[in-house]
Amino acid sequence: MARRPFIAGNWKMNKGPNEADELARELKSALAGNTAVDVAVAPPSISIPAVAARLQHTGIQVAAQDLHPQVSGAFTGQISGEMIRQLGVAYALCGHSERRALFGDTDVIVNAKVKAAFRAGLLPVLCVGETLEQRDGGQVEAVIEAQLSGGLEGLEADQVAAVTLAYEPVWAIGTGRTASPAQAQEVHAFIRGWLGRYPDYVARTVRIQYGGSVKPGNAAELLAQPDIDGALVGGAALNAESFAAIVAAATA
Ligand code: PEP
Repeated sequence: MARRPFIAGNWKMNKGPNEADELARELKSALAGNTAVDVAVAPPSISIPAVAARLQHTGIQVAAQDLHPQVSGAFTGQISGEMIRQLGVAYALCGHSERRALFGDTDVIVNAKVKAAFRAGLLPVLCVGETLEQRDGGQVEAVIEAQLSGGLEGLEADQVAAVTLAYEPVWAIGTGRTASPAQAQEVHAFIRGWLGRYPDYVARTVRIQYGGSVKPGNAAELLAQPDIDGALVGGAALNAESFAAIVAAATA
């Protein structure tokens, strides 16, 4: 059975509650006809209530950009999966490269967040990807392998099958520089092969998104690759028209 395409938008630290509500309203109308693609948006956590309310019954899911591994406690400024889940959120990004680079999220922490997402009833979107230095040093597979085995450590096969993976080469995020479809496919195929250590259905089921400067103009070619099952979109997700065009490209 073919994997259903999954396009997610990461709004990063953009769109407070008022602007987020406006963008959600635009998305609701731009994506009204979509039935073929799973879609989610990840607003800043403070905007989640407004977006979740606006997108109720639209089929567009809400994702959190991050979560704390613990349920509750003395963790000033943090939000747990259980709290996020109360807002009707379906997914949680875990290990986005900005979290890894700017906020110290190691593979051990990312793994704790993936497990916390499951504990709270959220589906994790585990982000992996190499820096330009690592690519130039021929370390792409070693880096991805370490992030996969670290991030998925201790999960049951059924849980791994429910994870979405997002391959996001760090050098392509927010830079306007996209991996070529062939470059992206090569890593996606490597990831799919790596999943072969689990029972067969896992590699067949797991959706692997590509992320890194995906735009309406390059989405179709990327999404046509056999192991690219969707996209994690940053900049182009902040505009309803361009995000809807990327969703449409997933069905082409
Ligand atoms: C991202 O933030 O995950 C991302 C891929 O950003 P952009 O599309 O802006 O490169």
